[in-house]
Amino acid sequence: MHATLLQHALEYVDIPVQLAGGVAGELDGVFGNELKLTEIWVPREHLELGRKVIETVLESEAEQGSPAEGPAWACASCGEDNDSGFTICWNCQSLRK
Ligand SMILES: [Zn+2]
Repeated sequence: MHATLLQHALEYVDIPVQLAGGVAGELDGVFGNELKLTEIWVPREHLELGRKVIETVLESEAEQGSPAEGPAWACASCGEDNDSGFTICWNCQSLRK
């Protein structure tokens, strides 16, 4: 999930957004870590609405089932366990099969 998704959702309801931290809103795909990696700044007068928008987006993401959720997988090449969010092995960079 990208922070820019939240940004667009906020801008959709006319809340100006600034992203701070992270690299161009690229996130590591681990649900729950994303808001630590990228801070989303909204003007104080929009804080309450902004929070609701973010909660709504995150909830709908959760309902749809994030690709980052699911069981860990074992690498076919080296046998290492990898979190489901990874599509390549962290150890040997083999593609998930
Ligand atoms: Zn491997």
